[in-house]
Amino acid sequence: MLLLLHLYLPDSFRVFQEIIFQPGHSDNSDGGFEDLGPSAAAPIEHAGFAVSVQAAPTNVSTLPLLTQPMQWNPGATTASFQTESFANARFTAFDGRGDGKGLLLSQHGGSEGSEKAVALGLEWLAEHQHPNGSWDYDFTKALKCRGKCRNPGPFTSSNSATALAILPFLGAGITPTSGDVRYRSVVDRGLRFLLQNGRRRPEGLSFIDTTVGPMYHHGIATIAICEAAAMTQDPVLKAAAQQAVDFICYAQSPTDGGWRYEPRDLKGGNTSIFGWQIMALKSGQMGGANVPPEVFFKAQRFLDSVVSIDDGAIYGYLSREDLHRDTRGTDNRARPWEEYRRATPAIGLLSQMYMGWNVDHPALVRGVQYIADMGPDPNNLYYNYYATQVLHHYGGETWNRWNLQQRDALIARQSLEGHERGSWYFDGPWNDDGGRLYTTSLAILILEVYYRHLPLYQTQAAELEFPLD
Ligand SMILES: [Zn+2]
Repeated sequence: MLLLLHLYLPDSFRVFQEIIFQPGHSDNSDGGFEDLGPSAAAPIEHAGFAVSVQAAPTNVSTLPLLTQPMQWNPGATTASFQTESFANARFTAFDGRGDGKGLLLSQHGGSEGSEKAVALGLEWLAEHQHPNGSWDYDFTKALKCRGKCRNPGPFTSSNSATALAILPFLGAGITPTSGDVRYRSVVDRGLRFLLQNGRRRPEGLSFIDTTVGPMYHHGIATIAICEAAAMTQDPVLKAAAQQAVDFICYAQSPTDGGWRYEPRDLKGGNTSIFGWQIMALKSGQMGGANVPPEVFFKAQRFLDSVVSIDDGAIYGYLSREDLHRDTRGTDNRARPWEEYRRATPAIGLLSQMYMGWNVDHPALVRGVQYIADMGPDPNNLYYNYYATQVLHHYGGETWNRWNLQQRDALIARQSLEGHERGSWYFDGPWNDDGGRLYTTSLAILILEVYYRHLPLYQTQAAELEFPLD
């Protein structure tokens, strides 16, 4: 059940020296932290979000929120908190969400139908937001729903549920100060909830709010904060992003450089949780956050440990040794394929792409072919989410074929009746864990792939086509 969610990634470090790990030198207890709680201190003064709303109709009742600065006190900074690193920040991977969105949509395989499905999905998400700006996997408590929709999820993390609901808005280019004016306040209130609900610890800002898979929730919340920081350049969001990134760096397993359920988990990482943390670190970097290079060195070591076969093309869930120990006494070495989660090869490859593999890297070419041969899974959105990004970045006919297999089939499964209109739900791996909120979020993010991240290997060309200024 903990295998739920997963996202991604970083720069090329593998040519550098070996990293020496220091086994046994850590505590493995999240509970040992002092919970500093949300700041009760006076809010800092800053210019964030005091931006005029362009061409906003005056009948949008929630607009006054957008003129209020974010209320969050970054408190004492950690050693790695470097606000100056944001000064010259470039976040080109998110540039496609702006003015060039329509062209990217058509160039990379989107359609009128996919955009309509995204729009309906955003409506459903907005309809299930709580007055305090949060979302829950059990969305039936939302005032406008009250159980009219089926398939709530059992997870209790408001932080990750809120982040998963915000990400599709950010993916569509909507922030508190930009994009569709109907949803700016939705995003604004969601971000404010996260800022208020994060806990400042000596090691950084923590979004852990549940005992079930805590690093899942922190990683997902950090991605939302980092994307919002990069897109808005708001100083409060950027400070929060840096500190949330700091916490991920702290939480890296000293055993193998991965991430697992608990911060600094001595059992070593698993590829699923690894993916969310790497994605968060990379999103943070795109907004200018500082990530110590050794964090990526160690992360590369973890990835190397989960390469299963075919010289870097296929990635498993746990390190090879761990994999063998994880089979309740069964010697799995003779049948390793059965132990792999379907998504892990895609998570591994996407991570390698972000860590610097060239598009013609032989293992990447083979891995992409492996995924392409499997094709989209009709029910496994988690796998599709990662695999779609891998193939989108890879491009070419492989991507075109994948997109045609997936796009309209996914659109056709969107609920169109009653209060469920605009959402997705169907049986599949981990879908019942996160429920309809989770499946809807992933489905929208998949259909935003055309512009949500500029293709890694075409970024330079895209920048020329859609300059920031
Ligand atoms: Zn509902």
